[in-house]
Amino acid sequence: MQADGAKVLVVEDEISIRKFIAVNLHRNDFEVLEAGDGEAALKMAETYRPDVVVLDVMLPGMDGFEVCLKIRKSMPHIVIIMLTARGEDMDKIMGLELGADDYMVKPFNPLELIARIRANLRKMPSRPPVKGKRIFYRQLMLDLEGQRFYKNSREIELTPTEFAIMKVLLGNPLKAFSRDEIMNNVWGGDYFGDLKTVDVHIRRIREKLEDDPSNPCWIETVWGIGYRLGGGEQP
Ligand code: CA
Repeated sequence: MQADGAKVLVVEDEISIRKFIAVNLHRNDFEVLEAGDGEAALKMAETYRPDVVVLDVMLPGMDGFEVCLKIRKSMPHIVIIMLTARGEDMDKIMGLELGADDYMVKPFNPLELIARIRANLRKMPSRPPVKGKRIFYRQLMLDLEGQRFYKNSREIELTPTEFAIMKVLLGNPLKAFSRDEIMNNVWGGDYFGDLKTVDVHIRRIREKLEDDPSNPCWIETVWGIGYRLGGGEQP
């Protein structure tokens, strides 16, 4: 991902610090959005889909940790850089449960923040397109317009049939679908194929998607019925 022109949301309640960061980002050709608290940050992230969120830990109301968790859950492809005044927060920030990409301890040089933003954007060469209709579920994202499928920001190449099956399962996570239902959704009601075809495609998707295809956590078998999209890998 090119850093030039990337959209950065700066979340900080101290106006002087926020403006200072914003001015410096702007000077370096970033598009800048600003929010003064967590609620506003979540709304802006949802509406404007920034590429990067610079997020202060200490905020009024919902703190930066909570904001980070919420953004990570619904928008897994955003780079999140946390700002902290306390060095001891770093374990929590970089821990799996929060999933921030980087952090900076205040006070910091704005040029270093910009360097970190650029470095983190470069780490994401396969970032999905920002526009279009997309389905998000945990670490998975289905881009319906681009017909692409991603796990943890990395594209997994699916055949059109496999894509159609994932669209059915992702459309209703944790719901058990019978093989009949999957077949009707994917091939249409007029298709009278062998229901085992569904199993073959599911096996191929698992080989691409699951860390351990013989012990799947994304596409779970529901005995006597069919399949459901499960909770995925636990951090
Ligand atoms: Ca603050």
